[in-house]
Amino acid sequence: MKSWKPMMQFFLDELLRREGLGDNETRCSCCQQELLPTARRFRCRNCGIFVQCINCLLERHKLMPLHSLEEWTGHYWTRVTLSSIGLVYQLGHGGHPCPHPAPAIRDMVVLDFPDVHQVKFRYCACDLSDRANNLQQLMRNDWYPATTVDPATCATFSTLKIFRLLSVVGGINVNDFVHTMEKNTDPWGVDQVPDRYKAFGRMSRQFACLGRLMRAGRAHDDAGVEATAKGGCAVLCWACPHEGINLPEGWQDLPKEYQ
Ligand SMILES: [Zn+2]
Ligand SMILES: [Zn+2]
Ligand SMILES: [Zn+2]
Ligand SMILES: [Zn+2]
Repeated sequence: MKSWKPMMQFFLDELLRREGLGDNETRCSCCQQELLPTARRFRCRNCGIFVQCINCLLERHKLMPLHSLEEWTGHYWTRVTLSSIGLVYQLGHGGHPCPHPAPAIRDMVVLDFPDVHQVKFRYCACDLSDRANNLQQLMRNDWYPATTVDPATCATFSTLKIFRLLSVVGGINVNDFVHTMEKNTDPWGVDQVPDRYKAFGRMSRQFACLGRLMRAGRAHDDAGVEATAKGGCAVLCWACPHEGINLPEGWQDLPKEYQ
């Protein structure tokens, strides 16, 4: 703290500089093309805060539709979505082109911590992705669907995992978690951030249940998940004595008071 205090102005200036264009006024950091004063300038919170022209931005984010963008208005950086500047994500190929995509462009709300994204995408209808149906295409993209029929909301697997951890370690509930994401996406509440509280509650419970089944080895049973016996997913208590696991051989022969 003692050495930091005299440098307060330095840190403050650097933070303020980040709110503006800095040295990035004249060129796109990716293609080095000169940017006219009227050209659109973007930066991505996930890629890094260098300036990108619209072509580089779209090319770069074909495979990364869940990045959070900002556009320079001439006075300040404002949030924009990738879908609003024309990105249509191709499912079934991880964003790479599909030779025979489904014709319809669809909307999907994707909860990807710490943001709520509104993504435009196409399903794949070619043979290359193993004829996966729509739900399989979502699942194979790490997007967990909120409903089983024509889903319009998903949460990424990593978001469901981080929620699980935060709820176990930090005691966070679904409402606070989703509200945090909504606030982070739109701090002033001026844009329409879709409310996905109920959907996320359902998804997180399903995901936790599936995790328990996997951990208990239930995914490998030929008879399927229905064959799970009552208590089949329970974790054995580490501290309790179990024959053949944490009891010394011949414990039965000891006198009662030492057993
Ligand atoms: Zn460029
Ligand atoms: Zn990015
Ligand atoms: Zn395809
Ligand atoms: Zn116990």
